[in-house]
Amino acid sequence: MSDRGRSGDKGMTPARPPAGGGARLLLSRLRALMANQAQDPHRLDRVVELIGNTMVADVCSIYLSSEDKSLLLVATQGLAKEAVGRTRLAENEGLVGLVSATARPLRLTDAFSHPRFSYRPETGEDPFHSFLGVPILRGGRVLGVLVVQNRTERAYDDEEAEALQTVAMVLAELVSAAADQLSSGVRQTRPVAMTGRTLNEGLAIGKAHLYDPVVPPARLFAADPDAEEQRLNDALEALRTSIDAMLTRAGPVLFGESRDVLETYRLFAHDPSWAGRLVEAVRSGLSAEAAVDRVRREHRARLESARDGLLRERLHDLEDLENRLLRQLDGNDGGGREAPPGAVLVASRIGPAELLEYRDADLAAVVLEEAGAGSHAAIVARAMGVPAIGGLTGLVTRVEDGDTVVVDGESGTIQIRPAADMVANYQARIAISDQKLEELALLRDLPARTVDGVEVDLMINAGLSFDLDHLDEVGAKGVGLFRTEFQFMASETMPGLDEQATFYRSVIERAGERPVVFRTIDLGGDKVAPFMGRREREENPALGWRALRMALDHPYFFRRQLRALIRASRGGTLRLMFPMVATVEEFDAARKLLDAEMDWAVKFGRDLPNRVFVGAMVETPSLAFSIDKLKGKADFLSVGTNDLMQFFFAADRDNARVISRYDILSAPAMRLLLRMRQRADEAGLPITVCGESAGRPLEALMLMGLGYRRLSMQASRIAPMKLLIRSVDMSALTPRVQAAVEGGEGTIRNQMLSVAHEFDLMI
Ligand code: PEP
Ligand code: MG
Repeated sequence: MSDRGRSGDKGMTPARPPAGGGARLLLSRLRALMANQAQDPHRLDRVVELIGNTMVADVCSIYLSSEDKSLLLVATQGLAKEAVGRTRLAENEGLVGLVSATARPLRLTDAFSHPRFSYRPETGEDPFHSFLGVPILRGGRVLGVLVVQNRTERAYDDEEAEALQTVAMVLAELVSAAADQLSSGVRQTRPVAMTGRTLNEGLAIGKAHLYDPVVPPARLFAADPDAEEQRLNDALEALRTSIDAMLTRAGPVLFGESRDVLETYRLFAHDPSWAGRLVEAVRSGLSAEAAVDRVRREHRARLESARDGLLRERLHDLEDLENRLLRQLDGNDGGGREAPPGAVLVASRIGPAELLEYRDADLAAVVLEEAGAGSHAAIVARAMGVPAIGGLTGLVTRVEDGDTVVVDGESGTIQIRPAADMVANYQARIAISDQKLEELALLRDLPARTVDGVEVDLMINAGLSFDLDHLDEVGAKGVGLFRTEFQFMASETMPGLDEQATFYRSVIERAGERPVVFRTIDLGGDKVAPFMGRREREENPALGWRALRMALDHPYFFRRQLRALIRASRGGTLRLMFPMVATVEEFDAARKLLDAEMDWAVKFGRDLPNRVFVGAMVETPSLAFSIDKLKGKADFLSVGTNDLMQFFFAADRDNARVISRYDILSAPAMRLLLRMRQRADEAGLPITVCGESAGRPLEALMLMGLGYRRLSMQASRIAPMKLLIRSVDMSALTPRVQAAVEGGEGTIRNQMLSVAHEFDLMI
């Protein structure tokens, strides 16, 4: 880098810090400059001049990052003017490169002694001892570096460093707006393709809408800094109060460290240094929003480079808190969120509750950076019926608000700023799939009956009340799996008895005559409710303290859910099932709690359901081999193939590397499934499959071939499944599947595919 500079006309200026309130002075001058010279192509020259003069620096320079990450000198006061537009520093070169790479300010009294100092003799610079460089940050990206230098060994103080960072933030908006005039990579224009993980299938094209609140450049400055400081303090106070209230409402600690996240928020929210920096920034003339944004940019930039998991979590927490504060300032501390219709929601991470707030926003798709949190959001995205992709590392720094984004939920890819022919291509594909959907809708009132008259009951998996709207749309027989934990996952605090009962009642009412099978809470593993906080890390969470195990260890909490279910089903039929039952004893224990709740309702004269059916989910091999023992205890069974297969093959269902090695379409898995169906028949227990496999064409054919007649799946799979079933001849299919069960041990996917083609099946 040009860590040395040749003095301009100023000559030897005695180094001295700016007068108190330097940031304020700087900003007010900058603001005037921005207002007066909006169209001036030499604006950046004026900016460096202004900063240099106000800070009494011998040199002030701006370097902007290009798409190849090199840093181009675009404006300077104090260095040779000829170097502007020519001097280009490689990524990581010298002190400027260091500021850019670390995204953090660098303050040196004697730059020469720094190991990263590099001297560019071709610029003929004179030695400059002191150096203060700050990153120009926007949306977590480093757009460039702003540098001041002095010839003497001057110690820049905290106030000056803060002031320069504040200026750098304003500068980020300025250079971004002027990006077209600068041949730099400030505004991203190139198409970018990214691959992640499909959370919900489907295709979409839309304009990016960034979830993290965006502060418009028009709101950078405060008209009245004193009033603005008051606004900021009010918002901070409201934020603290709301977090304190959440902590109080969270009630008794349920899950050990359940209050951790809120406690962390509270810690940050009450941290005087965090608030102090915000107040400082407002005092310098920024609006309250811009002040929060300034600090948030730094955290996001650090997050981009942070590798340490714990540090990343903390930075995420801070960012979450800053986003909350921005919403508070915006007067939007809850309630429905808005986005332009047809937008693609882009977020680093989003909780199910936040995503739910967009349910009326008519989103085209959801794309997320973090896959972990995405798995909860995926559930909501599915319920909202929008394509969703997660695990897109670095996403938010590559997309700008308003960019066109193509979302391909079939391949798990997104295209940011795609070329016109790519868009046209996707538009054609979307048109074809829309047409297909219209054709499928015609099947709504037709039965799922094979050509030789075998009827299959198709039901939907649900978890949110608006999932129930799909029942009519697709013509399903009922809800085969209602995941009650979603209500808990979408709630900041533990839903109370009334809240739960009202919700279950609304689900039952929306389903009308059709049955709904409620699965009792299945939290733990990868499913975390906000009020559970960060729990003790388990080596194998899928095999850990989850689902029924957790419920049985917390009978007070579990009984509350059972009571809510009983209350919601008064005068009707209650159907419920327990998840992750590993032993018959566990089933007995859960049933005993249900009986106790029924007794309690009788004793206190509460309205009761007319009938109660209790089922067990078969998700563990141990229970698969105990089906006969459930005779007379359970009323029905439901096979959760997602979990059952992960335990059967000992392969984590969320780990693509291992899960793709094993196939449910292989003899060992099919033998297990066949045996389970036979034992269920012998015990007189109706059996349903409600794992993802039930909604996949080849897997569903296999299950039908093994004798399963009840399948529960994502609502969008019902119509294609009906179409498939209506073209199947069971008398031809069954012997082929039976033969495969007896055949070799490997996957029979290709075999099944050729059977499907042979019978001309629509898969
Ligand atoms: C399953 O495991 O197959 C299942 C339906 O439950 P979940 O996917 O909610 O664990
Ligand atoms: Mg399961």
